[in-house]
Amino acid sequence: MRVYCCWIHGEEREGLARRPLIDPCTGDVYAEAAGADAEMVDRAMESALGALPDWRARSVHERARILRVVAQSIRSCGERLAQLLSREVGKPLAAARDEVLSAAALFEFFAEEASRLSGRIPLLGMDREHVMILREPVGVVLAITPFNYPLSTLSAKVAPALAAGCTVVAKPDEHTPASTLEVARLAVEAGLPPGAFNAILGDGPLTGRSAVNHPIPRMVTFTGSTEVGKEIQRACAETVKRVVLELGGNCPAIVCGDAPWKSLMPQLISQCYKNSGQYCYRISRLYVAEGIFDEFVEELIRQSEALRLGPAHAPGTDLGPLNNGEILERVESQVRRALSEGVRLRSGGSGARPTTPGFYYPPTVLVDVGRRAGIRREEVFGPVVVAMPFDDPEDALADANASPFGLAGYIFTRDLALALDLVGRLEVGSIWVNRIHQAYAEVPFGGMKESGLGREKSGYGLEEFTELKSVYLSY
Ligand code: NAD
Repeated sequence: MRVYCCWIHGEEREGLARRPLIDPCTGDVYAEAAGADAEMVDRAMESALGALPDWRARSVHERARILRVVAQSIRSCGERLAQLLSREVGKPLAAARDEVLSAAALFEFFAEEASRLSGRIPLLGMDREHVMILREPVGVVLAITPFNYPLSTLSAKVAPALAAGCTVVAKPDEHTPASTLEVARLAVEAGLPPGAFNAILGDGPLTGRSAVNHPIPRMVTFTGSTEVGKEIQRACAETVKRVVLELGGNCPAIVCGDAPWKSLMPQLISQCYKNSGQYCYRISRLYVAEGIFDEFVEELIRQSEALRLGPAHAPGTDLGPLNNGEILERVESQVRRALSEGVRLRSGGSGARPTTPGFYYPPTVLVDVGRRAGIRREEVFGPVVVAMPFDDPEDALADANASPFGLAGYIFTRDLALALDLVGRLEVGSIWVNRIHQAYAEVPFGGMKESGLGREKSGYGLEEFTELKSVYLSY
């Protein structure tokens, strides 16, 4: 059986504890991963620290050249990477191929963006005196990623860190280590010095915690749950490490009565159930104008039930399984609790689960969601959507904001003045108005409130990996 090992200083290192990797589509064990203990974590950190002086001293052109080769390698190994991703996450192959392309695009984008990093010399007009404001790489970066988008979340961290002159220790989710290891190997083959990009395997409480508490990293960039994000932020306070946190969401969509909702429905459906609902930016709360609510919900159900739930590799599958048994159990128990609180199941739910093995959960529509129902406020990391009617968009806005999360929001109306008014008051990091299109590498990505801290992607995301240094120069 294949054993995935840590990747330290450009080679595989077998860790101690082994855990089985389970195929989400069948529930069968297909490989093992050897996790890193504290000593292995220490080796990875020392390797990254040792590689730092050389890497940060390379010219921006040289760093960019290597990042472009990494991107090319990701593209040329695209099919193999997509197969790995599809296997470890359980996502349909077409979606896995898209994720590989977005990973390559992020390496290309940050190769370009690196040359735009700059400092400043303000015109202070002082006699024989200047102040130079320099930007420097922050140092060794610990990048912790989740299971739902292992490659794109990794690339959104590793590419800008390397572009800025930092070195990296990556800690992928324990369920999805394979694609991260493959990219680490491709990066060294592309000419990245050994030690500039290490990967440690293992679970959060052991390997993750020990890496966060290690004195070497100067920054932790984390994508995952709000609960773990808070723990990481607290731990980082001990040594005042910088943190960038991309955390949970419970994203609202406000659909006004004048919106062309019938033609929008396929986009809405896709954004509700993307990646089988394991997507932090997905729509999970639909606020729909009273006048169209009943018809809207009927159409939502009709199109939800038309989606094909099945194994990731089967042709025509729209939704693969959830990634693992814990996620499935959590989603089932959240829906069970909602029903016990008076919420009404209109479609899907545990009763509609296929009887085949694997962690399948069907698209699920809930209505009659009372003000106190927990599901209104919490994140469900699965294909479950709640639909709620509103009379006045002000009420929808107030309820949308009455959430600890502030990741993304969606507004649909032909009234642009109303849309822009809502945009100004919806407490989220990204808003889509009237169309749900792809997010771009050029645009900052991240949340407000308990959805996160700092931004990824774009020039702003690159700057997170730098420190400012002020030099007071007299002559
Ligand atoms: P999780 O927080 O349980 O795990 C994420 C990563 O953190 C894994 O690598 C895990 O091993 C590690 N980890 C767990 N405990 C740790 C600890 N104590 N110390 C250090 N590392 C630890 O997240 P999950 O449930 O697997 O992933 C889903 C969550 O991720 C959802 O809440 C989702 O919204 C969020 N997410 C957010 C974004 C975003 O961009 N905002 C993107 C994807 C996923």
